Amino acid sequence: MKLLDGKFVSEKIKQEIAVEAADFLATSGRKPHLVAILVGNDGGSETYVASKMKNCEKVGFQSSLIRYDVTVTEEELLQKVKEINQDAGVDGLIVQLPLPKHIDPEKVTEAIDHRKDVDGFHPINLGRMMRNLPCFIPATPYGIMLMLKSYEIDTVGKHCVVVGRSNIVGSPMSILMARNANPGNCTVSLTHSRTTNLKEMCLQADIIIAAIGKKNFITADMVKPGAIIIDVGMNRETSETTKSGYKLYGDVDFDNVAPVSSWITPVPGGVGLMTIVGLLKNTLASAKKEIYG
Ligand code: NDP
Repeated sequence: MKLLDGKFVSEKIKQEIAVEAADFLATSGRKPHLVAILVGNDGGSETYVASKMKNCEKVGFQSSLIRYDVTVTEEELLQKVKEINQDAGVDGLIVQLPLPKHIDPEKVTEAIDHRKDVDGFHPINLGRMMRNLPCFIPATPYGIMLMLKSYEIDTVGKHCVVVGRSNIVGSPMSILMARNANPGNCTVSLTHSRTTNLKEMCLQADIIIAAIGKKNFITADMVKPGAIIIDVGMNRETSETTKSGYKLYGDVDFDNVAPVSSWITPVPGGVGLMTIVGLLKNTLASAKKEIYG
């Protein structure tokens, strides 16, 4: 078993991003700028947004966090999105999900100017990705592709089983892995909660990408010896043994699956760190007008 080390790869790519950000500052007189909107104080969301902001600073981006109380109206939030869309000094805008129940996440996602949608969730970006056109690729799948590329994992002709079909992870991941590109060129099975023979499907997989949201869901008896395992899951549980007061678990039973696999991502230290890299790369590309001119 070998580790797909998100810490190592993300640090390496962040150094490259920092060099490009410095060049951008030298030529344009400003830093790439990411704005994040956070509604309420969900523990997980607080941590993820704080980490995104911190990483922006690290690579020489400007970052701004706009916070709203959980009682903010949909109208107020949409108004703020509109305002940021029009601000030429902002390159990327993300609205941290989940949002409170009274706010429609689809409306908010569609309200973001697709040219600033560095999370890659807007239908225009997803549609363009589907057609293999320049676009912002959703940050987590993008990060996973960067990880596979960095380790020169040969994916051609492999059977990739994606577990989970969300719009932000599983579905875009399945499209990217099936694409005629490198990494890519896989035969992809996209599975979900209605899949009747999940264990059999997983046992046929050369690559498993687990994006389910259930701690230790993928067990060793579901994994073919030598398979490559990508664990997207971030399941937070309170813990008395950690300083932060919580512990993160993946969707994969790492201790038992790792010995069976050829490559595996740890949680933490795997896909989560790569997601931030995907977000930073999209923000830089937006600042440099590489996607939409
Ligand atoms: P969603 O809840 O949106 O989707 C979960 C998917 O898993 C659904 O498609 C669901 O199927 C499927 N699923 C649920 N139960 C089963 C089951 N028993 N068998 C098969 N499939 C099942 O989650 P996300 O995609 O947003 O996130 C998935 C995980 O990844 C979470 O732990 C999340 O925290 C984490 N995450 C991590 C990121 C990172 O940076 N590392 C970024 C984003 C998410 P159905 O559609 O039928 O309901």
